[in-house]
Amino acid sequence: MSLYVHKYGGTSVGDTDRIKNVAERVHKARQRGEDVVVVVSAMSGETNKLVALAHAVQERPDPREMDVLLSTGEQVTIALLAMALQARGCPAVSYTGWQVKILSDASHTKARIEDIQTADIRADLAAGRVVVVAGFQGVTEEGDITTLGRGGSDTTAVALAAVLEADECLIYTDVDGVYTTDPRVEPRARKLDRITFEEMLEMASLGSKVLQIRSVEFAGKYNVPLRVVSSFQEGSGTLISYEEAGVEKALISGIAFNRDEAKLTIQGVPDRPGIASKILGPIAAANIEVDMIVQNVAEDQTTDFTFTVNRGEYKKAMEILERISKELGARNIKGDDKIVKVSIVGVGMRSHAGIASKMFDSLAKEGVNIRMISTSEIKISVVVDEKYLELAVRTLHEAFDLEQGD
Ligand code: ADP
Ligand code: ASP
Ligand code: MG
Repeated sequence: MSLYVHKYGGTSVGDTDRIKNVAERVHKARQRGEDVVVVVSAMSGETNKLVALAHAVQERPDPREMDVLLSTGEQVTIALLAMALQARGCPAVSYTGWQVKILSDASHTKARIEDIQTADIRADLAAGRVVVVAGFQGVTEEGDITTLGRGGSDTTAVALAAVLEADECLIYTDVDGVYTTDPRVEPRARKLDRITFEEMLEMASLGSKVLQIRSVEFAGKYNVPLRVVSSFQEGSGTLISYEEAGVEKALISGIAFNRDEAKLTIQGVPDRPGIASKILGPIAAANIEVDMIVQNVAEDQTTDFTFTVNRGEYKKAMEILERISKELGARNIKGDDKIVKVSIVGVGMRSHAGIASKMFDSLAKEGVNIRMISTSEIKISVVVDEKYLELAVRTLHEAFDLEQGD
């Protein structure tokens, strides 16, 4: 018997008609003789509403209570989908994360799945029921509810597909696959039939929110066949798989971007050993993740030190810099929270020179000023002013011939 895990995101379950549409799809799969486990997100906008409610009553919401609150969004959709399936004559049962026992660590709002109990799910499937599981949530050993970070339903689906050894994990969403870049920014973006785990992981970590990073990590690690498809139209979507020998590799597969960036600079700090850790130590201690780091060459025994953080943590990071700049005897601090990161990604880059200069040239021709650069084997990222985001993405898309029909 074939087994598929389907995951439907917020837009795909955005109202009761759409939930009925999902039920229809799942029912058809059952009629084809497939066993189906369905993972659903909260209805679109619901998680944001819950976050806003929390902030309206507590400045820094208590993480444990936040997870109790956030997990309710998905609880609504699982019940409605199970009802919609039953209404079609398709036996179905819903489970929250803690009912399944999706065990996670205790890092509230960004918990990691550690184990999933499958006996009940298997028994339901054997009895001919569709199993509907709430995405994005888990439970600790102690019984506390956790959530898996924004977009976490993708990870629930992949983890279930891994433990149940499903034939494929289908991520149903509001686009019909993974594109060369977000089609909302570049309408000429082209759908990819395949992309490697490595590239998808890079795209996701550089800001392409079509899949949560951890879901891609998980799928790669456990070799779960993963496919992004549309919940509104038929099609084979995009298969995420391992690099295949002999398959010609595109130089650049896609362009990712992240609007959620801010940069901070501490100027004129004495250039001595240990300075980087004196600056970044307190930042790390405050649980602020640092992305790019640039330290200038010193000319007058002092140096400038620049790094980027998530925009949401900009203020907190600035406060820390203000405090330590005095201790360090820095000349000045400055910051900018109107910057974005644009990246080109491709495994083909490994074996080709000249990609970076082509990227910088084409941006320069359009007058886009590059503020920071970082590279790895299969990606090049630049930080530019927020106002250049669309221009930069479209310029690079064209420069690397990624359009449809090319
Ligand atoms: P869901 O609610 O189904 O989880 P998401 O909003 O999380 O859906 O992800 C789908 C969205 O991801 C698309 O609507 C699209 O705007 C965005 N996206 C960003 N980058 C890409 C890309 N490279 N290919 C396809 N979609 C992308
Ligand atoms: N509902 C959660 C969110 O909005 C999880 C998800 O949709 O994957 O982030
Ligand atoms: Mg999503």
